[in-house]
Amino acid sequence: MQFAGVISAPGKKSLSPVFQQAAFDHLDIAVEYQHWPTSAEGLGTRVAGLRGPAVLGANVTIPHKEACLPLVDDVDPLARRVGALNTVLNDGSTLRGYNTDVEGFLRALQEASFEPRGCAAVVAGAGGAARAVVVALAEAGAARIAVVNRTLERAEQLVSDLGAAVKPAQLAAASDTRESWERAAAEASILVNCTSLGTAGTPEEDRSPMPSDLIRSQALVYDLVYQPAETRLIRDARQAGARTIGGLPMLIYQGAASFKLWTGKDAPVDIMFQAAEAALAAEDA
Ligand code: NAP
Repeated sequence: MQFAGVISAPGKKSLSPVFQQAAFDHLDIAVEYQHWPTSAEGLGTRVAGLRGPAVLGANVTIPHKEACLPLVDDVDPLARRVGALNTVLNDGSTLRGYNTDVEGFLRALQEASFEPRGCAAVVAGAGGAARAVVVALAEAGAARIAVVNRTLERAEQLVSDLGAAVKPAQLAAASDTRESWERAAAEASILVNCTSLGTAGTPEEDRSPMPSDLIRSQALVYDLVYQPAETRLIRDARQAGARTIGGLPMLIYQGAASFKLWTGKDAPVDIMFQAAEAALAAEDA
């Protein structure tokens, strides 16, 4: 038996054990996928523990994605550009860090037949997820990306950190005001929520990051929040006649890309969707 797992903050739930275990079981791969809640102080020990011969690797989630970078031996160039990793591969002698959030984000976009080349985009939020999304949009050829965030300094830091790496895409930071939204949303063909606003079970569950009346019917609205499936933002977007993508496809596809790194096999994504949807429905019941 081998092991893999997700390294999360203590006390945080994760859907990864449900859909990753379903994938291993479906392909008869003898791996037990575990949940590894870890404090900031315990992160070094946890990552060192991945070096054992029985460990395939790990997923890494909030808040450890950035802090893990210096703890692995080798960082894939894409993860280096984002400044965060979400996957560790133990190849026997070396721990390698990857960022599969970028691939997960883009695969869901491709399935929706959205062509980012030359587009103008608005990204709400400036945390780790926003960094992966900005790099993903730039990799896919977006021309202009406005980063709107409650804390302007954090958006400015993101632009300062990533601006050169994402060229020729043009990055700009904006504060979370109606004027910023008016300007950014008027030209954007894609709006992405990378804040936690709208997440089930939080005081912000019924909040959306963007003014509903500024959502244009021509835009695609992509919400990284996956629970609930229909967030306030997704509802507003549908009412505006815009196309939408929820957060579950990205979650599954980033996990599928991690699975491929660990096993060399294509992940059974239909099985992973079924397992995740069943778990989410059980939580809602
Ligand atoms: P993070 O680094 O903690 O960043 C959180 C972001 O949300 C920041 O921009 C923060 O703004 C903003 N925010 C939080 N509360 C807010 C509020 N009350 N009003 C306005 N803005 C607020 O988290 P992250 O890793 O980037 O993740 C962000 C979200 O994406 C989470 O909900 C996460 O579950 C989701 N996510 C989904 C996937 C997927 O596969 N679907 C992958 C990654 C992340 P400030 O800077 O002003 O604090």
